Amino acid sequence: MLHQILIRLQKQRRGKIELITLTKRANKSAMPNVEIVDLRQELANGNRSMISTKLYEEIEKNIKNNKQTILFLNRRGFSSFVMCRDCGYTVKCKRCNISLTYHEYSNSLKCHYCGYETKNINICPSCKSKNIKYFGTGTEKLELEIQKMFPNARTIRMDIDTVTKKNSHEDILNKFKNENIDILVGTQMVVKGHHFPNVTLVGVIAADNSLNIEDYRANERTFAILTQVARKSRKRRTRAEK
Ligand SMILES: [Zn+2]
Ligand SMILES: [Zn+2]
Repeated sequence: MLHQILIRLQKQRRGKIELITLTKRANKSAMPNVEIVDLRQELANGNRSMISTKLYEEIEKNIKNNKQTILFLNRRGFSSFVMCRDCGYTVKCKRCNISLTYHEYSNSLKCHYCGYETKNINICPSCKSKNIKYFGTGTEKLELEIQKMFPNARTIRMDIDTVTKKNSHEDILNKFKNENIDILVGTQMVVKGHHFPNVTLVGVIAADNSLNIEDYRANERTFAILTQVARKSRKRRTRAEK
């Protein structure tokens, strides 16, 4: 892939291929207004939540004005890994050797690569300590936090877990659109299909997360997902938080 791109660039330089740049959007709509919020600054100001003060205010405003919000987090589950604070043991997949993700609804640990599932642990298998801690955030935890922050708002979650368990992809999106649910929390699934005329705010939580995945196209993929998500907002306000 990279090799092909290099060859293409080489040919282009030699004048064999013309570079065509897209300067306008197909439907002539305005480019989305994207704002980046630095969460390190938020933390320095005492905000330990994964939602910045600015995004919080915007969501609040949207709920008041009866507008819809999409919150995008590219990680499902509750916590991305479980670790023993005493000896540093982390629960990993026996087959893939990657950290298992904690899912609260099933109280289990799952491998997002191969689907391996095991019971959650209360005691460290290595040193028998009970000092087990959860790190990282997934869509399940984000939805819970949002419900605590905005108890009167109606929320719906869309990720592989909700899609296979209760409803189809279509059902969830239709419900969000037709029943005027305030906030849709989801993984990259939310970027596919559908136009939501009442969505005026898209929040990307931990936008730089996907830069750390082990993939040489991580930058390209992050950019692609972010631009797709940004398009979901009609009045084009997107907040990328990192
Ligand atoms: Zn696995
Ligand atoms: Zn331990």
